[in-house]
Amino acid sequence: MTALETGGAARVVRFADGTAIAAHSVILATGVQYRQLEAQGCTDLTGCGVYYGSALTEAAGCQGQDVYIVGGANSAGQAAMYLARGAKSVTLLVRGADLSASMSYYLIQQITEAPNIEVRCRTVVDAAHGSGHLEQLTLRHTGTGETERVDAQWMFVFIGAAPLTDWLGESVLRDERGFILAGPDLTPDGTPPAGWELDRPPYHLETSVPGVFVAGDARAESAKRVASAVGEGAMAVMLVHRYLEQS
Ligand SMILES: Cc1cc2nc3c(=O)[nH]c(=O)nc-3n(C[C@H](O)[C@H](O)[C@H](O)COP(=O)(O)OP(=O)(O)OC[C@H]3O[C@@H](n4cnc5c(N)ncnc54)[C@H](O)[C@@H]3O)c2cc1C
Repeated sequence: MTALETGGAARVVRFADGTAIAAHSVILATGVQYRQLEAQGCTDLTGCGVYYGSALTEAAGCQGQDVYIVGGANSAGQAAMYLARGAKSVTLLVRGADLSASMSYYLIQQITEAPNIEVRCRTVVDAAHGSGHLEQLTLRHTGTGETERVDAQWMFVFIGAAPLTDWLGESVLRDERGFILAGPDLTPDGTPPAGWELDRPPYHLETSVPGVFVAGDARAESAKRVASAVGEGAMAVMLVHRYLEQS
């Protein structure tokens, strides 16, 4: 998909090959692209000890092992707390000088009190090593430039995700990071968004264009989980039917 246009009741989706489809309703579900760690070796070991975005499914494999988490925001902190229940050690690698600028106070407290979590600030991953599975990491202190090679079986990377929504341009309202706004997020003060012409407010997953819905990771404030994306997809279909009945 390369563009979304509105012409009267039609919602027109344009494609890269020059074709287009006009519909009464559209569900946007283009997801996000996780930012990749550029350190040497990471691409080859992704899925083999190096993971992006979620730690839940791999947690069982981390029992009694050394786990590294890259990132200093809440998602990294939550993963550290979760994995620390079973891992031998969890090391949080933070690029910044401390966690206070990027992580909630309650999580910092929990991490500080956890006996098997270590926080290493001003530290980045220079390289990931392993044959078939992650075995070691080369870490670099950005202040001193010193490098160190450590044993590591697991590394989870939480350095952000960008929604695949640039192609939408100004067609629907997006937040400052590009995530699509929908439902109550379009009416924070009870007023519908500019240009909204219907008497009712937007339905829960409806965007700033009536009849255009969003589901999954591309939606602002979404959970970034399979189950919620699937659930939102099902809910969006139900809302499409409601929209079509009323239009
Ligand atoms: C490495 C990794 C591990 C994960 N592990 C877990 C886990 O263990 N548990 C969990 O619950 N969640 C996990 N997630 C998150 C989960 O994958 C997402 O929450 C879920 O896939 C979101 O579904 P979605 O339909 O919104 O987007 P996606 O599944 O990302 O699907 C979006 C689709 O839209 C397509 N697309 C994008 N732009 C366009 C365009 N312009 N035109 C046409 N097509 C387009 C994409 O190619 C893609 O096929 C993980 C994610 C990653 C990356």
